[in-house]
Amino acid sequence: MTATRMQAGDALVIVDVQNDFCPGGALPIAEGDRVVPVLNEWIESALAAGAPVYASRDWHPKGHISFKESGGPCPPHCVQDTEGAQFRSDLNLPDGTIKVTKGTRFDRDQNSAFDGTGLEHHLREHGIRHLYVCGLAQDVCVLATVLDARKLGFEVTVIPGATRAVTPEGGARASKQMREAGAL
Ligand SMILES: [Zn+2]
Repeated sequence: MTATRMQAGDALVIVDVQNDFCPGGALPIAEGDRVVPVLNEWIESALAAGAPVYASRDWHPKGHISFKESGGPCPPHCVQDTEGAQFRSDLNLPDGTIKVTKGTRFDRDQNSAFDGTGLEHHLREHGIRHLYVCGLAQDVCVLATVLDARKLGFEVTVIPGATRAVTPEGGARASKQMREAGAL
């Protein structure tokens, strides 16, 4: 899909394109960095359309409940204020990017950019109806974000080539679930 279709009422939602989720990071997703050039085109398109750009980030306190040291499934990743938690420096996030911070809770993890962040409120306040969603990982946080968006009644397009999965099987399953939920 060429990045030329955005219009009023659309928003670009970039999920967790952070160093730790890319090759060389603490919880790397194969080819996670390959989404960046595609997203940079979509950022241009959003800017041209005057559409807002949202960028979510996993932003864990030290010893977060999702970390192995605390009995969770993950190696420590995206610890607040570390290099690993930074957005990829080659991702051309514009001035005015709206950052959505999640994973800060002490009592449970938050995979969806909608989970306890108030994102729904912000989107509605700004008249957004259609989300173009992309980022990492397709079968974890992108999936959770897309399913929540559909439940809340937003139209959703998952940008082809702008997401990568933890595993190919997980990616296939996530694609199916997102399609069944009505995402394009
Ligand atoms: Zn996390």
